[in-house]
Formats: sequence, structure tokens, C-alpha cells
Amino acid sequence: MIVDFSDLKEVGSKKKYTAELDVDHIDFRNREIEIDGPLTVELDVLKTERSFVLSGELEGVLILQCSRCLKYFEHPIEVEISDELSIEDIEDLHNIDLFPIFERDIILEIPIKPLHDEDCKGLCPICGQDLNKEECDCEKESIDPRLEKLKEFKQK
Ligand SMILES: [Zn+2]
Ligand SMILES: [Zn+2]
Repeated sequence: MIVDFSDLKEVGSKKKYTAELDVDHIDFRNREIEIDGPLTVELDVLKTERSFVLSGELEGVLILQCSRCLKYFEHPIEVEISDELSIEDIEDLHNIDLFPIFERDIILEIPIKPLHDEDCKGLCPICGQDLNKEECDCEKESIDPRLEKLKEFKQK
């Protein structure tokens, strides 16, 4: 999102933006995260002595991959924007790209281990069956410790 802040001269002057950004992905840890539909941005800009203060909200839908069953799912986000751009760091007031800031804010919203559902059962480690759809017949190595106790008891 390219903006022009050259008309914000006086300290205390403000500007408002509403935009729909057509972005189809962002880069995240060498992977691409797909974005479904536009990102909606509402932004207030305030000029201070040495900076522009950005505040607002960004909404959209990310397509994430479930860390257990590997299925892709929609993950709606509502990101609060609260940033400050130092005037010193701006090369051209007519031509400021805010997207890197938004991208960073979005990345902070991505869960470390995304789950399509909190109760996702994942894939069978042996045959790869999606256990959300159907149980498989594989012998699971992890035996419930309570059952283990019961087995010992029976052997005695
Ligand atoms: Zn899942
Ligand atoms: Zn299995």
C-alpha cells in the first residue's frame, strides 16, 4: 500500500485511509502463506514532531496448513495496527510503502502450530490415515498408561 504523507506538514495533522489490498500471499519463514480475498485496512495517521503514528485495523483471511492433519484451512485475522514511522527513515514522503509494516503485523498473528480445529486428531504416524475422517487398524505404540497398569495386574 503506497501512501503520500507529503501533505501532513503541521504537527498534529491527521489523515484517514480505508483500503482493500489485493494481496495473494505473504512470505513467512521461507514459505508462502496464501491470502484468501482482499485485506481490508482502516488506518489513522498522525503527524508528530519526528514521526508519523499509525493506528488502525487490518482484516482478512489467511490460508494456513494444520500442523497435525496437514489440511489447509481458512484462518480469519483481525490485526491491530499500532506503529510509528520515523520521519528520518523515510526516503520519499510522496511514496511510502506501508505493506512491509502490515506484513510484519500479520506474521505476528500466525500461530506457531496452526490447528484446523483444536480437537484435530491428526494423521496416523504409521499409515497416514486422516484420523478425523476414519480410525485405522494400526497398532498404536503409545498405550494408555492406565491400560498398561491393568495389564500388569492381570498377569499377576
Ligand atoms: Zn487438522
Ligand atoms: Zn494407521
